[in-house]
Amino acid sequence: MSKTALVPEVDFDAAGAQYGFLRLFHSVHRSAYGYIPIPIVVIRNGTGPTALFLSGTHGDEYEGQVALCNLARTLKPEAIQGRVILLPAANLPAAIAGTRTSPIDAGNLNRLFPGDAQGSVTEQIAYYIEHELVARADMVVDLHSGGSSLHYVPSALIGQDDEIPDRQARLVAALKAFAAPIGYVGHSQPGQGAGRTTSGAAQRAGKLALGSELGGSGAVTTAALRIAERGLRNILAHMGITDAHTAEPGPTRILDVGGPAYFVYAPGTGLFEPLVEPGDTVSAGQPAARIHTPETPWAPAETVHFARDGFVLCKRVPGRTMRGDCLFHLGTDLNW
Ligand code: CA
Repeated sequence: MSKTALVPEVDFDAAGAQYGFLRLFHSVHRSAYGYIPIPIVVIRNGTGPTALFLSGTHGDEYEGQVALCNLARTLKPEAIQGRVILLPAANLPAAIAGTRTSPIDAGNLNRLFPGDAQGSVTEQIAYYIEHELVARADMVVDLHSGGSSLHYVPSALIGQDDEIPDRQARLVAALKAFAAPIGYVGHSQPGQGAGRTTSGAAQRAGKLALGSELGGSGAVTTAALRIAERGLRNILAHMGITDAHTAEPGPTRILDVGGPAYFVYAPGTGLFEPLVEPGDTVSAGQPAARIHTPETPWAPAETVHFARDGFVLCKRVPGRTMRGDCLFHLGTDLNW
Protein backbone atom coordinates (compact mmCIF):
# COMPACT_ATOMS: atom_id res chain seq x y z
CA MET A 1 0.00 0.00 0.00
CA SER A 2 1.26 3.49 -0.83
CA LYS A 3 2.07 5.82 2.04
CA THR A 4 0.96 9.35 2.71
CA ALA A 5 2.78 12.13 0.86
CA LEU A 6 1.95 14.63 3.62
CA VAL A 7 4.83 15.63 5.89
CA PRO A 8 3.94 16.53 9.50
CA GLU A 9 5.99 19.19 11.29
CA VAL A 10 4.85 17.76 14.64
CA ASP A 11 6.11 14.66 16.47
CA PHE A 12 3.07 12.73 17.69
CA ASP A 13 5.08 11.00 20.41
CA ALA A 14 6.85 14.01 21.95
CA ALA A 15 5.76 15.37 25.32
CA GLY A 16 4.45 18.93 25.62
CA ALA A 17 2.58 21.16 23.19
CA GLN A 18 3.44 21.32 19.51
CA TYR A 19 1.96 23.65 16.93
CA GLY A 20 2.76 23.26 13.25
CA PHE A 21 1.53 22.18 9.87
CA LEU A 22 0.95 19.10 7.80
CA ARG A 23 2.71 19.92 4.55
CA LEU A 24 0.67 18.82 1.55
CA PHE A 25 2.89 19.47 -1.43
CA HIS A 26 0.96 21.05 -4.28
CA SER A 27 2.85 22.27 -7.33
CA VAL A 28 0.97 25.08 -9.08
CA HIS A 29 1.70 28.03 -11.36
CA ARG A 30 2.28 30.51 -8.54
CA SER A 31 4.31 28.11 -6.39
CA ALA A 32 6.26 25.33 -8.08
CA TYR A 33 7.61 23.63 -4.94
CA GLY A 34 4.99 24.89 -2.47
CA TYR A 35 2.87 23.11 0.08
CA ILE A 36 -0.59 23.63 1.55
CA PRO A 37 -0.03 24.21 5.31
CA ILE A 38 -2.78 22.37 7.21
CA PRO A 39 -2.51 23.47 10.86
CA ILE A 40 -2.22 20.77 13.54
CA VAL A 41 -1.78 20.87 17.31
CA VAL A 42 -0.55 17.95 19.40
CA ILE A 43 -0.68 18.20 23.20
CA ARG A 44 0.79 15.28 25.11
CA ASN A 45 1.48 14.58 28.76
CA GLY A 46 2.28 11.21 30.35
CA THR A 47 0.29 8.21 29.29
CA GLY A 48 -3.40 8.02 28.55
CA PRO A 49 -5.88 7.90 25.71
CA THR A 50 -5.79 10.03 22.55
CA ALA A 51 -8.61 12.36 21.52
CA LEU A 52 -8.71 13.62 17.92
CA PHE A 53 -10.83 16.75 17.42
CA LEU A 54 -11.48 17.99 13.87
CA SER A 55 -13.33 20.93 12.36
CA GLY A 56 -13.35 22.56 8.96
CA THR A 57 -13.99 19.20 7.32
CA HIS A 58 -16.58 21.37 5.59
CA GLY A 59 -15.08 24.85 5.24
CA ASP A 60 -18.34 26.79 5.70
CA GLU A 61 -19.08 25.27 9.13
CA TYR A 62 -17.54 27.77 11.52
CA GLU A 63 -18.65 26.95 15.07
CA GLY A 64 -16.24 24.02 15.43
CA GLN A 65 -13.39 25.99 13.83
CA VAL A 66 -13.82 28.77 16.42
CA ALA A 67 -14.07 26.24 19.27
CA LEU A 68 -10.85 24.50 18.19
CA CYS A 69 -9.00 27.82 17.73
CA ASN A 70 -9.93 28.67 21.33
CA LEU A 71 -8.88 25.20 22.52
CA ALA A 72 -5.58 25.35 20.55
CA ARG A 73 -4.57 28.47 22.46
CA THR A 74 -5.77 27.43 25.92
CA LEU A 75 -5.19 23.68 26.35
CA LYS A 76 -1.93 23.11 28.25
CA PRO A 77 -0.04 19.81 28.59
CA GLU A 78 -0.12 19.98 32.40
CA ALA A 79 -3.94 19.92 32.31
CA ILE A 80 -4.07 16.52 30.57
CA GLN A 81 -3.03 12.90 30.90
CA GLY A 82 -2.72 11.42 27.43
CA ARG A 83 -2.80 13.15 24.07
CA VAL A 84 -5.07 15.61 22.29
CA ILE A 85 -4.70 16.14 18.52
CA LEU A 86 -6.48 19.16 17.02
CA LEU A 87 -7.06 19.59 13.28
CA PRO A 88 -9.13 22.81 13.24
CA ALA A 89 -9.10 23.40 9.46
CA ALA A 90 -9.09 19.83 8.17
CA ASN A 91 -9.92 20.84 4.60
CA LEU A 92 -7.80 24.02 4.73
CA PRO A 93 -8.46 25.23 1.16
CA ALA A 94 -12.24 24.95 1.79
CA ALA A 95 -11.92 26.58 5.24
CA ILE A 96 -10.07 29.58 3.79
CA ALA A 97 -12.60 29.91 0.96
CA GLY A 98 -15.52 29.49 3.39
CA THR A 99 -17.00 26.76 1.21
CA ARG A 100 -18.23 23.24 1.87
CA THR A 101 -15.97 21.74 -0.77
CA SER A 102 -12.41 22.46 -1.82
CA PRO A 103 -11.84 25.22 -4.40
CA ILE A 104 -8.87 23.17 -5.66
CA ASP A 105 -10.48 19.88 -6.65
CA ALA A 106 -14.17 20.36 -5.60
CA GLY A 107 -13.50 17.63 -3.03
CA ASN A 108 -16.01 17.09 -0.22
CA LEU A 109 -13.66 15.76 2.48
CA ASN A 110 -16.50 14.05 4.35
CA ARG A 111 -17.36 11.97 1.27
CA LEU A 112 -13.82 10.90 0.33
CA PHE A 113 -12.65 8.56 3.09
CA PRO A 114 -10.63 6.34 3.11
CA GLY A 115 -8.91 8.72 0.68
CA ASP A 116 -6.02 8.11 -1.65
CA ALA A 117 -2.35 8.70 -0.78
CA GLN A 118 -1.61 9.63 -4.41
CA GLY A 119 -4.98 11.20 -5.23
CA SER A 120 -6.30 14.75 -5.42
CA VAL A 121 -5.56 17.27 -2.66
CA THR A 122 -8.75 16.44 -0.76
CA GLU A 123 -8.24 12.67 -1.22
CA GLN A 124 -4.72 13.04 0.22
CA ILE A 125 -6.11 14.86 3.27
CA ALA A 126 -8.71 12.11 3.78
CA TYR A 127 -6.01 9.45 3.50
CA TYR A 128 -3.82 11.20 6.07
CA ILE A 129 -6.67 11.68 8.54
CA GLU A 130 -7.76 8.03 8.29
CA HIS A 131 -4.34 6.36 8.25
CA GLU A 132 -2.27 8.68 10.43
CA LEU A 133 -4.68 10.51 12.78
CA VAL A 134 -7.70 8.26 13.32
CA ALA A 135 -5.24 5.38 13.61
CA ARG A 136 -3.63 7.11 16.63
CA ALA A 137 -6.92 8.09 18.31
CA ASP A 138 -9.23 6.38 20.77
CA MET A 139 -12.06 8.85 20.16
CA VAL A 140 -12.69 11.07 17.12
CA VAL A 141 -14.90 14.16 17.40
CA ASP A 142 -15.66 15.83 14.05
CA LEU A 143 -17.42 19.16 14.62
CA HIS A 144 -19.92 19.92 11.86
CA SER A 145 -22.83 22.31 11.54
CA GLY A 146 -25.46 23.06 8.94
CA GLY A 147 -23.01 25.16 6.93
CA SER A 148 -24.28 27.62 4.34
CA SER A 149 -27.37 25.70 3.24
CA LEU A 150 -28.80 24.22 6.45
CA HIS A 151 -29.57 25.21 10.02
CA TYR A 152 -29.75 22.69 12.89
CA VAL A 153 -31.00 22.76 16.44
CA PRO A 154 -27.52 22.42 18.05
CA SER A 155 -26.93 18.69 18.26
CA ALA A 156 -24.35 15.99 18.73
CA LEU A 157 -24.66 12.74 16.83
CA ILE A 158 -23.45 9.19 16.60
CA GLY A 159 -23.88 6.52 13.97
CA GLN A 160 -25.66 3.26 14.45
CA ASP A 161 -22.99 0.71 15.16
CA ASP A 162 -23.72 -2.59 16.78
CA GLU A 163 -21.18 -4.72 14.92
CA ILE A 164 -18.84 -4.83 17.91
CA PRO A 165 -20.48 -5.76 21.23
CA ASP A 166 -20.81 -2.77 23.60
CA ARG A 167 -19.81 -0.29 20.92
CA GLN A 168 -23.26 1.26 20.60
CA ALA A 169 -23.44 1.60 24.39
CA ARG A 170 -20.02 3.33 24.46
CA LEU A 171 -21.12 5.67 21.66
CA VAL A 172 -24.32 6.55 23.54
CA ALA A 173 -22.29 7.18 26.71
CA ALA A 174 -20.05 9.59 24.76
CA LEU A 175 -23.09 11.27 23.21
CA LYS A 176 -24.57 11.83 26.68
CA ALA A 177 -21.21 13.01 28.04
CA PHE A 178 -20.96 15.69 25.31
CA ALA A 179 -24.23 17.06 26.79
CA ALA A 180 -25.63 18.90 23.76
CA PRO A 181 -29.35 19.59 24.27
CA ILE A 182 -30.11 17.19 21.40
CA GLY A 183 -28.21 14.03 20.57
CA TYR A 184 -29.25 11.95 17.62
CA VAL A 185 -28.50 8.62 16.09
CA GLY A 186 -27.96 8.89 12.35
CA HIS A 187 -28.51 5.93 10.08
CA SER A 188 -26.70 6.14 6.80
CA GLN A 189 -28.97 7.78 4.26
CA PRO A 190 -28.45 7.82 0.53
CA GLY A 191 -26.19 10.80 -0.18
CA GLN A 192 -24.87 11.01 3.35
CA GLY A 193 -21.77 9.10 2.52
CA ALA A 194 -21.94 5.78 4.38
CA GLY A 195 -18.35 4.71 5.06
CA ARG A 196 -16.91 7.76 3.30
CA THR A 197 -17.15 10.06 6.35
CA THR A 198 -14.83 10.53 9.34
CA SER A 199 -17.28 8.37 11.24
CA GLY A 200 -16.77 5.62 8.62
CA ALA A 201 -13.00 6.01 9.00
CA ALA A 202 -13.32 5.61 12.78
CA GLN A 203 -15.58 2.59 12.42
CA ARG A 204 -13.11 0.85 10.08
CA ALA A 205 -10.39 1.39 12.67
CA GLY A 206 -12.58 0.22 15.57
CA LYS A 207 -12.49 3.71 17.13
CA LEU A 208 -15.36 5.69 18.66
CA ALA A 209 -16.62 8.68 16.68
CA LEU A 210 -18.89 11.51 17.67
CA GLY A 211 -20.13 14.25 15.39
CA SER A 212 -22.04 17.46 15.84
CA GLU A 213 -24.44 19.65 13.92
CA LEU A 214 -24.01 22.86 15.86
CA GLY A 215 -26.20 25.36 14.05
CA GLY A 216 -25.26 26.63 10.65
CA SER A 217 -26.51 29.36 8.31
CA GLY A 218 -22.82 30.05 7.60
CA ALA A 219 -22.48 31.87 10.92
CA VAL A 220 -21.51 31.39 14.56
CA THR A 221 -23.82 31.99 17.53
CA THR A 222 -22.64 32.31 21.12
CA ALA A 223 -25.14 29.60 22.14
CA ALA A 224 -23.86 27.04 19.60
CA LEU A 225 -20.25 27.84 20.48
CA ARG A 226 -20.89 27.33 24.20
CA ILE A 227 -22.45 23.92 23.46
CA ALA A 228 -19.42 22.95 21.34
CA GLU A 229 -16.83 24.08 23.87
CA ARG A 230 -18.59 22.48 26.83
CA GLY A 231 -18.98 19.29 24.77
CA LEU A 232 -15.24 19.10 24.03
CA ARG A 233 -14.33 19.71 27.69
CA ASN A 234 -16.84 17.02 28.68
CA ILE A 235 -15.40 14.50 26.20
CA LEU A 236 -11.86 15.06 27.55
CA ALA A 237 -13.13 14.44 31.08
CA HIS A 238 -15.22 11.45 29.93
CA MET A 239 -12.08 9.90 28.38
CA GLY A 240 -10.07 10.50 31.56
CA ILE A 241 -7.71 12.90 29.74
CA THR A 242 -8.74 15.72 32.09
CA ASP A 243 -10.06 15.59 35.66
CA ALA A 244 -13.65 14.43 36.02
CA HIS A 245 -14.56 17.60 37.94
CA THR A 246 -14.01 19.70 34.80
CA ALA A 247 -17.10 18.06 33.24
CA GLU A 248 -20.34 20.02 33.10
CA PRO A 249 -23.03 17.40 32.61
CA GLY A 250 -26.42 18.28 31.19
CA PRO A 251 -29.51 16.53 29.84
CA THR A 252 -29.54 15.32 26.24
CA ARG A 253 -32.76 14.47 24.43
CA ILE A 254 -31.88 11.51 22.23
CA LEU A 255 -33.54 11.28 18.84
CA ASP A 256 -33.49 8.81 16.01
CA VAL A 257 -33.05 10.00 12.42
CA GLY A 258 -34.33 7.05 10.45
CA GLY A 259 -35.09 6.46 6.80
CA PRO A 260 -36.29 8.60 3.89
CA ALA A 261 -39.61 9.48 5.61
CA TYR A 262 -37.64 11.71 8.00
CA PHE A 263 -36.53 13.95 5.12
CA VAL A 264 -38.47 16.56 3.13
CA TYR A 265 -37.19 17.56 -0.32
CA ALA A 266 -38.19 20.45 -2.56
CA PRO A 267 -40.79 19.22 -5.09
CA GLY A 268 -39.96 21.98 -7.55
CA THR A 269 -37.71 24.91 -8.32
CA GLY A 270 -38.56 28.35 -6.94
CA LEU A 271 -38.82 30.30 -3.71
CA PHE A 272 -38.94 28.29 -0.48
CA GLU A 273 -41.57 29.34 2.08
CA PRO A 274 -41.03 27.32 5.28
CA LEU A 275 -44.20 26.61 7.25
CA VAL A 276 -42.40 25.36 10.39
CA GLU A 277 -39.12 26.09 12.14
CA PRO A 278 -36.35 23.99 13.77
CA GLY A 279 -37.49 22.96 17.24
CA ASP A 280 -41.15 22.54 16.17
CA THR A 281 -43.01 19.27 16.58
CA VAL A 282 -44.95 18.19 13.49
CA SER A 283 -47.38 15.45 12.42
CA ALA A 284 -47.60 13.23 9.37
CA GLY A 285 -49.46 15.01 6.58
CA GLN A 286 -48.76 18.50 7.96
CA PRO A 287 -47.69 21.02 5.28
CA ALA A 288 -43.93 21.62 5.56
CA ALA A 289 -43.26 24.24 2.88
CA ARG A 290 -44.57 25.96 -0.21
CA ILE A 291 -42.49 26.57 -3.33
CA HIS A 292 -43.48 29.76 -5.12
CA THR A 293 -42.71 31.06 -8.61
CA PRO A 294 -42.37 34.86 -8.24
CA GLU A 295 -42.05 35.22 -12.01
CA THR A 296 -45.71 34.08 -12.28
CA PRO A 297 -47.01 34.99 -8.82
CA TRP A 298 -50.58 33.91 -9.62
CA ALA A 299 -49.47 30.35 -10.37
CA PRO A 300 -50.35 27.89 -7.60
CA ALA A 301 -47.55 27.24 -5.11
CA GLU A 302 -46.38 23.64 -4.72
CA THR A 303 -46.92 22.38 -1.20
CA VAL A 304 -44.85 19.57 0.31
CA HIS A 305 -45.93 17.68 3.44
CA PHE A 306 -44.18 15.82 6.25
CA ALA A 307 -44.36 12.07 5.69
CA ARG A 308 -44.27 11.27 9.42
CA ASP A 309 -44.53 12.73 12.93
CA GLY A 310 -41.36 14.16 14.44
CA PHE A 311 -39.22 16.96 15.83
CA VAL A 312 -37.85 19.43 13.26
CA LEU A 313 -34.08 19.13 13.65
CA CYS A 314 -32.89 20.89 10.51
CA LYS A 315 -34.13 23.41 7.94
CA ARG A 316 -32.80 24.70 4.63
CA VAL A 317 -31.43 28.26 4.77
CA PRO A 318 -31.36 29.84 1.25
CA GLY A 319 -34.67 31.12 -0.08
CA ARG A 320 -34.11 30.01 -3.67
CA THR A 321 -34.42 26.27 -4.02
CA MET A 322 -34.37 23.58 -6.68
CA ARG A 323 -36.14 20.24 -6.92
CA GLY A 324 -34.04 17.77 -4.93
CA ASP A 325 -32.83 20.19 -2.24
CA CYS A 326 -33.34 18.98 1.33
CA LEU A 327 -35.73 21.41 3.07
CA PHE A 328 -36.14 19.74 6.48
CA HIS A 329 -35.30 16.65 8.41
CA LEU A 330 -36.93 15.24 11.48
CA GLY A 331 -35.95 13.23 14.53
CA THR A 332 -38.10 11.00 16.75
CA ASP A 333 -37.55 10.29 20.45
CA LEU A 334 -35.52 7.24 21.43
CA ASN A 335 -35.79 6.04 24.99
CA TRP A 336 -32.06 5.61 25.48
CA1 CA B 1 -21.12 19.13 7.62
